[in-house]
Amino acid sequence: MNLATSLSSVKGVGPKTAEQLELSGLHTVEDLIYFLPRKHEDFSEVMNITDLKPGKRTIKARCESISTRTVRRGMRVTTATLADATGKVQAVWFNQAYRATQLRDSTQEFFFSGEFEFNYNKYQLTNPSTEKVSDLPVQTDRLLPVYRAVKGLKSQVVRKILNELRPLMTMLPETLPESVIKTNKLVSVSDALLGVHFPKTSQDVERARERLAFEELFELMLASQLNKQANAKLESWPIKFEPPVVKRFVDSLPFTLTPAQKQAAWEILQDLEREHPMNRLLQGDVGAGKTVVASIAAIQAVSAGYQVALLAPTEILASQHARTIADLVKNDNITVGFLSGSVTSKQRQPLLEGLKNGQVDIIIGTHALLEPAIQFKRLGLVIIDEQHRFGVNQRQKLLEKSGRMPHLLTMTATPIPRSLALTVYGELEVSIINQKPAERKPIITKTISPVSRKELYASVDKELAAGRQAYVVCRLIDDNPANEAKSVEMEYKKLQNSVFGHRRIGLLHGKMKPTEKDAVMRRFLEHKLDILVSTTVVEVGVDVPNATVMLIEDAEQYGLSQLHQLRGRVGRSSHQSYCYLMMSDTSKPSQRLREVERSNDGFYLAEVDLKLRGPGEIYGRAQHGALNLQVASLADTKLIARVQKAAKDFARTENDLLQYKQLSAHVEKYQRLTTLN
Ligand code: ADP
Ligand code: MG
Repeated sequence: MNLATSLSSVKGVGPKTAEQLELSGLHTVEDLIYFLPRKHEDFSEVMNITDLKPGKRTIKARCESISTRTVRRGMRVTTATLADATGKVQAVWFNQAYRATQLRDSTQEFFFSGEFEFNYNKYQLTNPSTEKVSDLPVQTDRLLPVYRAVKGLKSQVVRKILNELRPLMTMLPETLPESVIKTNKLVSVSDALLGVHFPKTSQDVERARERLAFEELFELMLASQLNKQANAKLESWPIKFEPPVVKRFVDSLPFTLTPAQKQAAWEILQDLEREHPMNRLLQGDVGAGKTVVASIAAIQAVSAGYQVALLAPTEILASQHARTIADLVKNDNITVGFLSGSVTSKQRQPLLEGLKNGQVDIIIGTHALLEPAIQFKRLGLVIIDEQHRFGVNQRQKLLEKSGRMPHLLTMTATPIPRSLALTVYGELEVSIINQKPAERKPIITKTISPVSRKELYASVDKELAAGRQAYVVCRLIDDNPANEAKSVEMEYKKLQNSVFGHRRIGLLHGKMKPTEKDAVMRRFLEHKLDILVSTTVVEVGVDVPNATVMLIEDAEQYGLSQLHQLRGRVGRSSHQSYCYLMMSDTSKPSQRLREVERSNDGFYLAEVDLKLRGPGEIYGRAQHGALNLQVASLADTKLIARVQKAAKDFARTENDLLQYKQLSAHVEKYQRLTTLN
């Protein structure tokens, strides 16, 4: 037997179990020994029911009776009477109706482990977890690992198979370099796996988890470090910083740059001068003014004789950027081109020519810029707006278009918490615009109950009467993208029949043709519309400074970062702006909504979001498979700092990664996932 052995040939695994394992994605011995427990139950201190005191308690009891009833808003409450030789106690579960089936047999003994507390006027065991006593291993360890129940696979089955694999686990070869283990005082991989699957004490579990978390982060951060090293070896075009060029441009702006904008621009201009490609992330909260900063870099690159490409994730955004930048550079002798899927082939031909012979200085566009047909004469700088919307392979394509590696500036308005930036984006230099233009007033955000809809509409209409504009964002019907048009049309009718009957209302949704979308956005920008009813296509980047109201319908259905992004469409001028989070019913606002209500700070909200949802949910699993951290927590900043040091040291001193087979394979996978070059 070895790590690659199929689980179906392990002793005690019958055809039914083998099938369940397969369905759970567990095929080999290796898969199962790395299938880590979700938690550990402590059955070391089983109490008699008569002796119960408040706190987390475990009892060994039978279930005498159990029943479920539905209370307000569909919540299902299951209550049971549990009994041991010393007495009886009530247990209660919320939305776990299956307990009734599980505990039906009143002759069976179970361990119940949960909070014994005073609730609803009596002492109860709340939401206890349960384990059938007869299912426990013969020789019960103090701490019992509990596994994720996938596809009906039971914890005790997993434990039984793992018990067969135990001898193999004791002989596992080390996967981390000896020096890393030593310096960081980690337990061996063998002890770590034995420690999570067969712990004797909670300290065993702690040491094991520390080691496994360390390894997870180490692979990720080493990949980043190696990418950074590789990037530093590539050649790029050094673009000399010419202060008069930059000064002339900055002086021509209708506003003065904030100190944070100046600082970011300075950092970028310094990077451009190097002969190695810049690889920088420009982070700034929505409305902080990233476009201007990117434009400074673009002007400098063009003045030095290079071409610049700016990629945006959507057509609306790309054409808005094209307008903004054409306007910003109108005094200079610079040719700006625009390319997207909706540009006709007739318009396209001269553009392609111009890019190839160098007549077009700045090209702005969508994914269409990535097509192989598009060639540049001397592409010096690539700017990617809303970077997390672009896949790694797409970036690769763009970067292949230049004789040398162009400098790369990525911008994001979804602030990335520091822990995440260190682990996943460790190879990037980071500039942060952490301050908004001075005349901006914080957006006033309020959660609104549907019973107050009339009053709300009245106050929105006052804003419109004062010459401002409003967005109304609505949810898709049935979450079905095919119904986008229907969603906004229904909302339109509703608004028409309200106080807004006499207002000019426009519609925007993802199913419209790019040219139609652009036309609507333009009319809104030119104030030929008072209200824009839209789906979340306005989420990213849209800039209409005169809009001061953002009304989000069914707000509780959106993620925190998304609400903040939507809110960022307003508050872009010196007028007071408002964001209304309209709930779909009268229930209590969630923590998410309360956080958005009380904070305008995207960096703070990103941290909260990371805690509430985890990184994979926010930043997408497809692009960031790396974020599927099983053990490590991004909240563990101490560990992250330790691992960062270890990864840096290792990348600097060790040059034979290949001798560590598993490590190098994982690192290589991560390098591909997170690489920007
Ligand atoms: P974001 O960082 O969200 O991409 P933008 O670059 O779209 O922000 O800028 C938001 C708005 O603020 C734009 O209308 C822009 O012209 C304006 N702006 C940018 N910098 C400043 C500044 N220093 N002072 C005043 N307005 C600014
Ligand atoms: Mg922007």
